[in-house]
Amino acid sequence: MTRTAPLPLSDDDRAAMLNAAKAAVAYRATLDTGDVPPNLRPAALAKGFDATLPAQGKPAATVIDDLVSFAGQGLHGHASPRFFAYVCGGSMPVGAAADFLVTSWGQNSASSFESPSVALMEQTLCQWCLDLLDLPKDSGVGIVSGATVANTQAIITGRDALLARQGWDIAENGLFGAPPIPVIIGEAAHSAPMAGVRYAGLGLGNATRLATDDQGRVLVSALKTALAACENPPLVILQAGQINTGAFDPFAEIIPLVHAAGGWVHVDGAFGLWAHAVPALRDRLAGVAEADSWAVDLHKWLNAPYDAGLCIVRDRAALVSAMSARGAYLPELGETWEPSDSTLELSRRARGVPSYAILQHLGAEGLRAMITRHCDIAADVAQRLAAEPGITIMNDVVLNQVAIACDTDEITTKVLARIQERGRVYPSHGVWQDRQIIRVSIINHATDAADIDLLIAEILDAHRALR
Ligand SMILES: *Cc1c(COP(=O)(O)O)cnc(C)c1O
Repeated sequence: MTRTAPLPLSDDDRAAMLNAAKAAVAYRATLDTGDVPPNLRPAALAKGFDATLPAQGKPAATVIDDLVSFAGQGLHGHASPRFFAYVCGGSMPVGAAADFLVTSWGQNSASSFESPSVALMEQTLCQWCLDLLDLPKDSGVGIVSGATVANTQAIITGRDALLARQGWDIAENGLFGAPPIPVIIGEAAHSAPMAGVRYAGLGLGNATRLATDDQGRVLVSALKTALAACENPPLVILQAGQINTGAFDPFAEIIPLVHAAGGWVHVDGAFGLWAHAVPALRDRLAGVAEADSWAVDLHKWLNAPYDAGLCIVRDRAALVSAMSARGAYLPELGETWEPSDSTLELSRRARGVPSYAILQHLGAEGLRAMITRHCDIAADVAQRLAAEPGITIMNDVVLNQVAIACDTDEITTKVLARIQERGRVYPSHGVWQDRQIIRVSIINHATDAADIDLLIAEILDAHRALR
């Protein structure tokens, strides 16, 4: 019998897949040359863009070739070793390669029975991360799309657990009429956990914002005052790695106080929690492992391709009861890890596999060495810039973030605009202590001494020209 339907892989499909792989390799091979930002700005790019849906389709290989040549004009070098903006991992090639496979395998990764190889690799990834991060080994872990979702899931889980302890069944009764949950969060928190508080129906207006010190660390005295005012057990959200300063909240002092009040402590550790993997940095996060839940990204310091983070909850049953779509009551927490029991999603891609591949490639020592190197580079950047008259480093460089200010906001803004316009390196903007800053994040696996020399030269040249 001959098939009448198209082959699973026609010659055209094969060409499309191979051309895509070739274009991906060519792109990666030139990431350390040329400008970091796109050649064309959004408006210019949109001008030449044909947005009509074709009535008749085109061959797959043609589509891919067109896509490659169009996209090339507007790709930002987010994976470039000279991209220092925000806090963005560079996506290691081995992870990108594993991601091709994930997409090609097309596994629906909701079920360990239906997709056993993926589930085994992903469960192993979760165990490795718990070991590396030095968190309780029997924690529940959900592999989610990033730290925003990880924070949200953890906040929902904490909410449900706090209510369950007070005899309120949220799965059955919802939030209306439930005992109030006081939410306590630092002034210098990231917007992601604050979004989580909104998504969880707890209301940001009800949250107590704690005063912080000049590094963005929550003041213990403020926490004590807030706790004293709580009539119900609170949900307290702390931070490992403030985006401007890299600072850590004083976990060892705060967590026992919250637990004594019957509360739940969640830690947003999107990038900073990775410092716990490095013995020499671990003192900065003393006590963090005593929290109830943690959010951490894989697509930041692990340098995984985007769409990867972990929601980690000490009480695995609480995570499953909050997240399992099968209903809050059923999960028998057996040996098998059911991926979809720990995430909001049912169907999803095998998003843990690229991170598994990266850890296979780096090994524990390689990961520790990369994190250590990034922190050393950040300290070096700060030291070299601080020597320049008119430049102030606004943070204690305890991690990989450097907050740089010039004498006035106007100069800072102009200096950053000039650096971004030239495009050889790409730091980003921030506001810290009511001042405009240039923010440098050292987090790309491929950043080396030459990239840093160029970064320093670009900042100093712009500063000297504009001051
Ligand atoms: C990046 C970041 C987030 C948000 O993570 P996404 O992966 O972008 O969703 C949350 N908190 C902190 C501290 C971050 O740096």
